[in-house]
Amino acid sequence: MAKKTSTKPATAEEITMDDIFGAGGLLEKAHPGYEYRASQLEMARAVEEAFAKHRHAIVEAGTGTGKTLAYLIPAIRSGRRVVISTATKALQEQLFQKDVPFLQKHFAPNLKVALMKGRGNFLCLQKAAQLEGQPVLKDMEEIDWFSQIRDWSHQSEFGDRGELDFLPDDSDLWHRLDARRDTCTGKKCPDFDRCFITRMQQRAAAADLIIVNHALFFADLALKQDDFGSIIPEYSAVIFDEAHEIEDVASDYFGRKTSERRFDELARDAEQAMRMAPAGTVGPALMRKTSRLKEKARSFFEAFPEREGRFDFPPAERAAFRERHADVYQELAKALRGLETELAALPARTDELNAIARRSAELRDDLAFLVESEEKGYVYWYERKGKNVFLTATPIDVSAILRERLFQQFDTVILTSATLAVGRKFEFLRQRLGVELALEKVLDSEFDFQNQAILYIPTGIPDVRDASFVNKASQEVMRVLEITQGRAFVLFTSYSQMREIYERVRPRTPHPTFLQGTKPKNVLLKYFMETRNAVLFATSSFWQGVDVPGEQLSCVIIDKLPFAVPSDPVVSARVRAVNEGGGNAFLEYQVPEAVLALKQGFGRLIRSRRDRGVLVLLDDRIARMRYGSVFLESLPPYTRTRDVADVERFMNESS
Ligand code: SF4
Repeated sequence: MAKKTSTKPATAEEITMDDIFGAGGLLEKAHPGYEYRASQLEMARAVEEAFAKHRHAIVEAGTGTGKTLAYLIPAIRSGRRVVISTATKALQEQLFQKDVPFLQKHFAPNLKVALMKGRGNFLCLQKAAQLEGQPVLKDMEEIDWFSQIRDWSHQSEFGDRGELDFLPDDSDLWHRLDARRDTCTGKKCPDFDRCFITRMQQRAAAADLIIVNHALFFADLALKQDDFGSIIPEYSAVIFDEAHEIEDVASDYFGRKTSERRFDELARDAEQAMRMAPAGTVGPALMRKTSRLKEKARSFFEAFPEREGRFDFPPAERAAFRERHADVYQELAKALRGLETELAALPARTDELNAIARRSAELRDDLAFLVESEEKGYVYWYERKGKNVFLTATPIDVSAILRERLFQQFDTVILTSATLAVGRKFEFLRQRLGVELALEKVLDSEFDFQNQAILYIPTGIPDVRDASFVNKASQEVMRVLEITQGRAFVLFTSYSQMREIYERVRPRTPHPTFLQGTKPKNVLLKYFMETRNAVLFATSSFWQGVDVPGEQLSCVIIDKLPFAVPSDPVVSARVRAVNEGGGNAFLEYQVPEAVLALKQGFGRLIRSRRDRGVLVLLDDRIARMRYGSVFLESLPPYTRTRDVADVERFMNESS
């Protein structure tokens, strides 16, 4: 901590990061349970420097660093309006409800912070008023929910659907009431002043910090190109927490996508707009156009093969599709045009009907792009999930887009997460995201990994592609579970492998087992935490964002090195692009991606200084192949062994 020689109290400007984060500093005084952490102080200094010098920064800071305060405090002290973007709504809430009040209490009583989420989270007062008294509610349950929502809308400050715990996640009713941009008439709306979105924007416009999630951030950034409908007010710096996720999220929002649902929504909103139009404005011809649109959309999406999964849809295949299904495709485009023509012919159009005409034209443009465009730089693909088909064009490389729209637009963008570096370097991340120059820091963890965790790579397990792998791997899983008394996550890179190994292990282990997919994720996690000696079998959705501190989770087993599926259209297009650019996609793209994923997965185990446990990797390519060293160098310095007796000894020491 920097020593003050004067007896005069220091002014806010004179207080340094050392005074705040250092041993015996302000944080320690403010919070009895707070412990000084060298890496936290180092991170706070780095973030402060980035703000002061108007530079970007990349900081890898593991669990236990206390990275939230290490970026929030310098952000507040910068005096700039800063957007903080986190990966999920749950993390946003945590910042807003836990960290912000702490800062307001101890450091910045006048700090103004706004929480922003996507428009779909909020109630549209106009829609609620319009739905009132309309015979469109499906059953008694919907009528009851609607009446509760109506009462709540008069009392709620934020209008956030998260407050409605009775409403199921996939509620169709909510979809008819949410404040999506598609159906909003903005300033022309009679409820504009009391609208929950308007109020959220007003709070944000007056705030020092605005907390968003990545989806909202990139949806907004993508909209900012035409400046229509952007929701986040002006800001001068951005901090991305969980920054390892932003390539995927940015790819979604800078791409194009459509599905049958989008056509159905348009038809449904059009019908609603017609019902609301003054009597005599809309004739039956227009009503017929919307049913026709729904019919044609169904026929078009039915033309896609029935096999489930994600598939490439390159120009040649799309040309063949257009030829084979010329009728359904042309008919769908015609149905949209027909709707627009009919709307244009109306003598007077309400704002809602104008919005329908605009959306129809946008949808027609997206459809033509997705089915006909040969624009390079995108990978065109479709996905079938049950009855739903999604047609998508994803940018192969978002680095140029992000460089231009993000890193060149804002002089301070901070990227932080526990998993950003590969072999203690950020080259991979910088390339993927288009960051040219940045302050860089890989912070040493506060955990004593060598004593807290042992990494066991069994011998004698065949290659993961070998037919006997499942059998051997299952035996190894049972052996380890016996030593750790369950208390384990067994994480897989594929559903089929998860099911096969689960089916073999479940009848042979005395421990309670849970399987992903049998219940919603949060319910399974709750069961796991409340059940002694439980074992959870899961795939990618449990690899990150899951926090189980303490003995309840004492073992994480991973089936294989988490390489992305090479046949996935987006992965294969990216691999091709790197190879065609003269690079080596395996070493420069696939290995680094898998390294970060493995760090994430193993990162579930040690969540506090008191945690101890076993990590198991059932894939010995990490020890056999040359690229394995990149994985080993990138992982924390766990004790490593290939002998199960060491695991037993290690666990005995813990008990
Ligand atoms: S301004 Fe838009 S979102 Fe808000 S109540 Fe009106 S129509 Fe709904």
